Amino acid sequence: MTTVGDEQSAQTSPAGGKALDVDRLREDFPILDQELSGQPLVYLDTAATSQKPRCVLEAIACYYENDNSNIHRGVHTLSARATAAYEAARETVRSFLGAREAAEIVFVRGATEAINLVAGSFGRAKVGEGDEIVVSEMEHHSNIVPWQILCEESGARLRVAPIDERGELLLEELEKMLGPRTRLVAVAHVSNALGTVNPVREIARMVHDCGAVLLVDGAQAAAHLALDVRELDCDFYAFSGHKTYGPTGIGALYGKSELLREMPPWQGGGEMVLSVSFEETIYNEVPHKFEAGTPNVAGAIGLAAAIDYLAGLGIESVRRHESDLIAYSEEALLAVPGLSLIGRPRDKCAVHSFVLDGIHPHDVGTILDGEGIAIRTGHHCAQPTMKRFGLPATARASFGIYNTRADIDRLVAGLDRVHEVMG
Ligand code: PMP
Repeated sequence: MTTVGDEQSAQTSPAGGKALDVDRLREDFPILDQELSGQPLVYLDTAATSQKPRCVLEAIACYYENDNSNIHRGVHTLSARATAAYEAARETVRSFLGAREAAEIVFVRGATEAINLVAGSFGRAKVGEGDEIVVSEMEHHSNIVPWQILCEESGARLRVAPIDERGELLLEELEKMLGPRTRLVAVAHVSNALGTVNPVREIARMVHDCGAVLLVDGAQAAAHLALDVRELDCDFYAFSGHKTYGPTGIGALYGKSELLREMPPWQGGGEMVLSVSFEETIYNEVPHKFEAGTPNVAGAIGLAAAIDYLAGLGIESVRRHESDLIAYSEEALLAVPGLSLIGRPRDKCAVHSFVLDGIHPHDVGTILDGEGIAIRTGHHCAQPTMKRFGLPATARASFGIYNTRADIDRLVAGLDRVHEVMG
């Protein structure tokens, strides 16, 4: 059977850049080739975690089979190889983010750890009684709670920039909140609950005009948008490898080098020091000052393989493909009786949150699972966003490079099934 999606994947986009050959690239993702509940799996939960292409799995296995060793400290060959691979991965992340220097890339466990690092280091050094931190109403808990902890400890105040009914940040309201007390603004590049793409460049200008710094939570952006931290002019950028076709347990924090150099260490331990004595301990240079303990070497290597894979597809082609999926699914979902999309931002990326009249999102998710379709339901770790829309939870379908229009047709058919079952 030929679907509209199949025809689409064979075309060359009129705007230049090749359309993704999705049928081909799906073969790179072994996990997709399985049945759930007797139906071929449709994976629509990439915003929670992406699936991993075989090249990432192979890069990790190859590292453990051939080069595994602790890094930076050994004189032997395996240690030198592992160190070289780890530092090469840092260079890959630097280039992916458009950072100036590899020293501006700190490997962390993921976006959550990156944000905690900034709150714990920059925050501890620069934020005091009466200062203000500003977040938006569409943040993931990972970009709220670390700032709440910092505010509790420092006596600073957390302010919240509101969003409108479309799920867009009210920029004028944000601007009004910024002032001489503002130390840091933290916003998502893309909202995980609404799919909103925030105008980071414009926000950076406002934030810098008032002398504060901007942290961007890129957890939902890194796999979908072309990134250039210098162009965005953010001071910090955080993302997770596992949402970017890489492994779990690895991610990166970008920080402008002048900021990272000034910041105190966050965690103490091996690797982040040049020398230790009971009289005086001298810290290592950035980025090592922020990488205490043995890092996730295999994770960094896997992440670099994922970035190379994405780069090989071409991020413009990825964006084009996913924009098509968003537009196609928006039309298809709006035709489902009783369905409301939550958040209708003008610039949307890879996520649709929705509710069905009178049916709990968990029932939607459970019935779809019985049809072989994986979506996410709940508050998506964005309870304040849910509250803004007066909802405890939504159903969320999120897309990646391997999804097709046929997957969306299956989702819509699954929602018909939900209506049948729930009567
Ligand atoms: N921010 C956003 C917008 C997210 O979607 C997520 C993950 N759902 C995070 C932060 C946290 O990412 P991680 O759990 O990988 O640290």
